[in-house]
Amino acid sequence: MKRILVTGGAGFIGSHLCERLIDEGHEVLCVDNFYTGARRNVAHLLGNPAFELLRHDVTFPLFAEIDEIYNLACPASPVHYQFDPVQTTKTSVHGAINMLGLAKRRRARIFQASTSEVYGDPAIHPQTEDYWGNVNPIGIRSCYDEGKRCAETLFFDYHRQHGLKIKVARIFNTYGPRMHPNDGRVVSNF
Ligand code: NAD
Ligand code: UDP
Repeated sequence: MKRILVTGGAGFIGSHLCERLIDEGHEVLCVDNFYTGARRNVAHLLGNPAFELLRHDVTFPLFAEIDEIYNLACPASPVHYQFDPVQTTKTSVHGAINMLGLAKRRRARIFQASTSEVYGDPAIHPQTEDYWGNVNPIGIRSCYDEGKRCAETLFFDYHRQHGLKIKVARIFNTYGPRMHPNDGRVVSNF
């Protein structure tokens, strides 16, 4: 049994992950600032002694005694991440630095929820991991795309420089129960 930190744990994907980890017998510390997520997404877990919910913004340092980290905190849909683009970049970059610092102190394995958007407006279909993308650092989507790219850079440099055990997953469009009703992407719009 591990004590696992899930940032963005009250969001769509994060809440399912919290559930899964508890089902596997782990203790979960769910950290979220409820920017796009909500307590109701994890309401069914609140009475479970293996689950703890903390309102916290990952752009600020966090000191917690955990064994593993899943870093999912970040608004994911354009309507939400463009509402406060500076905060979006801070969430990806400062959030990654803080969670990597925590992982380094704890010698904890850490996972980053990256995105297919790191490929920008790709010139190659489908994208493979050896493709570096067709990217724009100054557009209205850049706060998300470039923030996630910089987070990947930080993950790989903490791995090379400090020997951290990292996993980076470039998630493609995902949808399902507990997705924000005003998410604004094509499946939820339909
Ligand atoms: P979501 O908006 O439901 O979840 C994100 C969660 O992060 C929310 O609960 C939100 O309140 C929280 N959050 C945002 N900023 C925060 C901060 N500064 N501090 C603490 N918590 C913060 O979105 P999701 O679809 O569940 O996405 C989860 C992760 O997966 C994100 O990192 C996203 O970029 C990534 N991702 C999602 C998709 C998809 O199709 N859903 C695709 C690619 C990548
Ligand atoms: N950090 C954190 N929790 C910890 C350890 C570090 O939030 O348990 C933060 C710390 O405040 C710093 C960041 O993670 O801003 C990076 O930490 P690291 O030790 O890698 O860098 P340094 O503190 O040397 O700049």
